Amino acid sequence: MKYLILFFYSLLFLNASDLEPIKINENSYYFYGKEEYFSEQNGGDIANTSFIITQNNVILIDTGSSKKYGEKIKKAIKKITSKPIKYIINTHHHPDHFLGNNAFIDSTIFSTEYTKKEIEKNGDLYIVNLVNLIKDAMNGTKIKAPNQILTSQELELDGYKLKLLYLDGHTKSDLVIYDEKTKTLYSSDLVFNKRTLATPHANIKNWIISLEQLQKIDYRILVPGHGIISTTKEPIKQNITYLNYLDSTLKNAIKEGLDIFEILEKSIPKEFESFTMFKEEFERSVINLYPSYEKDLK
Ligand SMILES: [Zn+2]
Repeated sequence: MKYLILFFYSLLFLNASDLEPIKINENSYYFYGKEEYFSEQNGGDIANTSFIITQNNVILIDTGSSKKYGEKIKKAIKKITSKPIKYIINTHHHPDHFLGNNAFIDSTIFSTEYTKKEIEKNGDLYIVNLVNLIKDAMNGTKIKAPNQILTSQELELDGYKLKLLYLDGHTKSDLVIYDEKTKTLYSSDLVFNKRTLATPHANIKNWIISLEQLQKIDYRILVPGHGIISTTKEPIKQNITYLNYLDSTLKNAIKEGLDIFEILEKSIPKEFESFTMFKEEFERSVINLYPSYEKDLK
């Protein structure tokens, strides 16, 4: 009896760790990533990945933080369609978006040239860092770099057309995918919905310009890189407000002679109280960006 209970308990546990895709529209779904930093508990499941089902294939947008995560989404996609995941698009070079690539042996993997180069250059370093943070969840993860470079404004896969926008600001190369047929905008990490923006490779000025461009698109559904999907322009507006706040806070602090610790003592402005991870991401951004602002204003 004891073993029977244990057996059912383990089944329960297994199911709990399975990933459930959330429907976006008639032919696409996304896996919602937890709004947390990398940890052993979340196994690196912290970014959104999405997929579009075409006539004969599946197009996967980003692959998560590890081979294990890649295998989990592969299993979950199989429950919805028997069509092969023939195409993958990596939106940018951050480890929570491409380290699941090696779960997909036969897929064609697209990215921009910059993203491919960064993956080849820093991929192994990302793996070392993540082994420290998420431990066993990284088992089997190896670098599988993109094998097709994107340069065209339109990508036609299996007769399915996607518009590509080559933007920057979150990183030096942020690829945005617009599905005109369903009016779905896959914004990559240029948009975080109510999750505080991560800025380790950010150029704040360019990021705002890119967001202003996205704001003009007549989309019906926005799939952000982090946070839940949205049917409004609100997440983009909030991201612009946050980036302006970060920029002016740093500029004013340096003018007033405040150090990093004095900036971090300030209370959270009302408009960002609903943002998840505000304290840690704001702190990370200030520590990261302060030296370059100091240099620029001197
Ligand atoms: Zn990112």
